[in-house]
Amino acid sequence: MRILCTNDDGYMARGLQVLAEAARAFGEVTIVAPDREQSATSHSLTLHHPLRARRSTDGALVVDGTPTDCVLLAVNELLPQRPDVCLSGVNHGPNMGEDVLYSGTVAAAMEATVLGIPSVALSYAGFEFEGLDAWGEVIGRLLERLLTTRMPEHTLFNVNLPPIDPADVKGVRVTSLGKRRYSDSITRAKDPSGRDYYWIGGGEMSWSGSPESDFQAVEDGYISLTPLHLDLTNYRLLEEIRAWDLAL
Ligand code: MN
Repeated sequence: MRILCTNDDGYMARGLQVLAEAARAFGEVTIVAPDREQSATSHSLTLHHPLRARRSTDGALVVDGTPTDCVLLAVNELLPQRPDVCLSGVNHGPNMGEDVLYSGTVAAAMEATVLGIPSVALSYAGFEFEGLDAWGEVIGRLLERLLTTRMPEHTLFNVNLPPIDPADVKGVRVTSLGKRRYSDSITRAKDPSGRDYYWIGGGEMSWSGSPESDFQAVEDGYISLTPLHLDLTNYRLLEEIRAWDLAL
């Protein structure tokens, strides 16, 4: 099996190394990853300047672009053969609820899905990353389950690992996306010239969601696995909206 590994934290990130190491048990792994942190770049493509790829000393292909650029270039240009699966992560931080819409980690997996390649996005839902190394074995067992199954088409798996000792994980729970809320997540201050600037990020995060949500699973000590599809059409509303008078 040919496995493409990527991420949005940059090719040096610990989470990517842990994922690639776990994946090596299942096939030939190639890393194609951004040369720097690209978190929250969502599904952006670089169109207005050229991209370059170089090989790092450990064999990874390093691209000066976004996670989506990496997957697109990997599949169409850089890899000698099309990968059978794409693994993205392990992200340094959670990707649950609406955050999947901002996440570069999830976007890389989405890009693979768009290209018809089964994919899994993995994120560590904590903020201390020293313990990530200990997750290799559990990630390996999860990959064994997923990679030996026929992955559904047009769907990616979004996995979040709870921020606990992997020995204490209770299992895998199949979940839906919850809703997250940030408070005070925009800071306004003055720059040295006295002009206002704004800085997005930080603040307190809270969430709501059903008992089957991704947030609840992680809080309960489970690995959350959410199947995501890319068709954002609200099918439940189609008939109702077709009944509106939209004649111009
Ligand atoms: Mn990230």
